[in-house]
Amino acid sequence: MKTKTTPFSMCSEQVRPSFIRDILKAANQPNMISLAGGLPDPSLFPTQHLAKSAYRVLMNSGQEALQYTTTEGYNPLRRFIAERYHRQQGLAISSEQVLITSGSQQALDLIGKLFINPNDAIILERPSYLGAIQCFSQYGPRMLEIDLNKNGPNQEQLTHLLNSEQVKLFYTIPNFQNPTGNEHSLESRRATVDLLEKTSTFIIEDDPYGEIRFEGEALPTLHSMLPEQTILLGSFSKTVAPGLRIGWVIASSDIIKRLAVLKQASDLHSSHLDQQVLYDYLTHYNLDEHIASIIDLYKRRRDCMITAIEKEFSTNVHYSTPNGGMFLWLKFPSTIKAMEVLNRSIKEGIIFVPGETFYAEKAALNTARFNFSNTDETNIRYAIKKIGAIVRAMEMEERPKVKWWPLP
Ligand code: PMP
Repeated sequence: MKTKTTPFSMCSEQVRPSFIRDILKAANQPNMISLAGGLPDPSLFPTQHLAKSAYRVLMNSGQEALQYTTTEGYNPLRRFIAERYHRQQGLAISSEQVLITSGSQQALDLIGKLFINPNDAIILERPSYLGAIQCFSQYGPRMLEIDLNKNGPNQEQLTHLLNSEQVKLFYTIPNFQNPTGNEHSLESRRATVDLLEKTSTFIIEDDPYGEIRFEGEALPTLHSMLPEQTILLGSFSKTVAPGLRIGWVIASSDIIKRLAVLKQASDLHSSHLDQQVLYDYLTHYNLDEHIASIIDLYKRRRDCMITAIEKEFSTNVHYSTPNGGMFLWLKFPSTIKAMEVLNRSIKEGIIFVPGETFYAEKAALNTARFNFSNTDETNIRYAIKKIGAIVRAMEMEERPKVKWWPLP
């Protein structure tokens, strides 16, 4: 008889469970204020319009929409996405270069499958999106991290790694990064492209937040600067609704064909009905106006959070002021562990995500991500006040105790 061994694959053993999912379970407790998730505000979901679209699609082309369809996605929707890039950024993308995916999360998984063999080197920003770290970890790469400076990735570290390793992928989120809110400057984008152009490394440009811009000019995508070597990911999760699970990949036709074969093996195609309903919504209503209302609400909430942080935290706490997106990033004094701040906050009915979960390797324990899209201003002020008091109390506890000696 053979001895007993684990029945589970190496791939499944390599995936880290998501700490955020565990925290979000705590968010379901009554009256918990959550700065933890990355959820859009549900009051912004265009439910009435989507209801009308769903009705129209089912009444007019229900049999077609409920049938199996092609893996690449609903052609009118692919065309809509290609034309939007053309209108907004002057990009000449054909609809054959668009693959519809079940959220951009599936795109990350398909990319991992397509490129990563065990021990391959890939580069990530430090910190980076937890869902990407989790997804890539299935395929067993060596995840090399480079620091994220105020204006973008640390170019010296990027150069060093590209010179010393055969790197398969560089995964980056140039617009309002999850978790830091960081935006790459135009100079940084140019420098990244200049470096990568000399290598065979692919850029994975993940851009779910680019349209949620509060201020400043939209900057060109890395894809527009290096199209053959960049795979651009987009999503309707933050601009329409995440429950639709509709995202997309923009890449060369060859890469799209390869990804489509992998997608076929995975789920045949993303929901045909959802794609048709979304397309009807996009062509009957004004997406730009809808996005403007999202920007308006999130900008007010970001401002509210920044004002509260300025008031409630000591000057030893540093924070980012993102120009868009849904998150800001905090650095407590080096002796303050964000996990301990979280443990004390939970007792006050408030949760957020300690930054250490967003690192593939060396975690900074004094960092935290605060989400501002899904909490109203009253609760933001209340939560920041409470967390501020906790951090100030911890700073006091950390102060070296002065010893008093009795006078002779
Ligand atoms: N990339 C980033 C940077 C994200 O923050 C998210 C979701 N929070 C995703 C990808 C996945 O989004 P979705 O699958 O809903 O498109």
